[in-house]
Amino acid sequence: MKILTVVGARPQFIKAAPVSRQIRKKHQEVLLHTGQHFDDNMSDVFFREMGIPKPDYNLGMSGGTHAQMTGKMMIGIEEVLEAEKPDWLLVYGDTNSTLAAALAAAKLHVPICHVEAGCRTHRMTNPEEINRVCTDHISSLLLMSTRGAIEELEKEGLKEKSVFVGDPMYDAFIEYKDCLSVSDLEVRGLDGKKETIPSSFNYLTCHREENTFDDSALNEIFKAMDVQDIPTIYPVHPRNKERALRLVKKNNYRNIILIEPVGYLESICLVSNSNKVVTDSGGVQREAFFAGKKCVTVLDFVSWPETMVCGRNTLSKPYASDIEQKLKIQQKVDSSYMPFGDGKSAERIVKELETHSNEIYL
Ligand code: UDP
Repeated sequence: MKILTVVGARPQFIKAAPVSRQIRKKHQEVLLHTGQHFDDNMSDVFFREMGIPKPDYNLGMSGGTHAQMTGKMMIGIEEVLEAEKPDWLLVYGDTNSTLAAALAAAKLHVPICHVEAGCRTHRMTNPEEINRVCTDHISSLLLMSTRGAIEELEKEGLKEKSVFVGDPMYDAFIEYKDCLSVSDLEVRGLDGKKETIPSSFNYLTCHREENTFDDSALNEIFKAMDVQDIPTIYPVHPRNKERALRLVKKNNYRNIILIEPVGYLESICLVSNSNKVVTDSGGVQREAFFAGKKCVTVLDFVSWPETMVCGRNTLSKPYASDIEQKLKIQQKVDSSYMPFGDGKSAERIVKELETHSNEIYL
């Protein structure tokens, strides 16, 4: 089989790493990077650290409005689909790259396999929700990271083409979680100078559109973290760099360590060694869960309901008082509860592609 994998953003590189390795044992993979994330620390580092092969195509398309980005990507992906004539298009998650690739493939009648199918926030104001729903509806094979996703897919009449495989993000976490220890970490502050990781810290990530369209959400998060009894480490997404620096300076937050985005091995090392995690990232919520760390998610919707048990992951409004209160909730960890599979989802994904090749059509 020839599989065209399309990736473009940080979480997709991470999910694609174990799957790509598995595909290449028996099949041909053509890798297309849309260029949605492009800096070394948002893109290349993941290819290096996780041994992802160099993309066969890099469209270098980033920036612009949602429509500009999606439209430009569709044109580039269509050309590659026509040149390569793959048996499958394989896409992950919910970014503009996911949607653009799916739309281009559907029009050319190339079967689409969507990994992480069936996630729903039920908020059409959430840009990723539009990408998820549309991609699921034009895909031929829907591979679910958790069994709970079947309920959503059933409601939308998509059950017949859905299969639970587990979460490739969990595969990656298991494979790489012990690669680094805190003493190995070399992280840089936003001024380029080396930062020392304190012995005890909280881990923060924040980048979603809902929390970055003005200063207020990030400032409230900073306010809450600044009064914690241990420092907070925040690898700043490029989208927030100027804002984060300005807010920390203006409000004299002394308990927040701003650093450049880190690689995947560094990030899961920081999650695993943190005290608590505060995030708006779907991936980091799950990694906190994998590592047994208390997580507060600053969003007004649930992205991974499976993590919201026994106080392990709690939603918070973007207000300092709410975040502080939610951080105090004690969690109870039952290590036998693992809704994200057994760390072998990559093998199952390839098996499902093989099983349904020549069988499922749009
Ligand atoms: N991550 C990383 N470096 C960072 C911050 C996050 O490697 O500086 C990792 C994180 O551990 C997780 C993934 O990036 O594996 C999550 O990506 P992101 O938050 O960009 O997207 P989302 O999961 O919200 O779609």
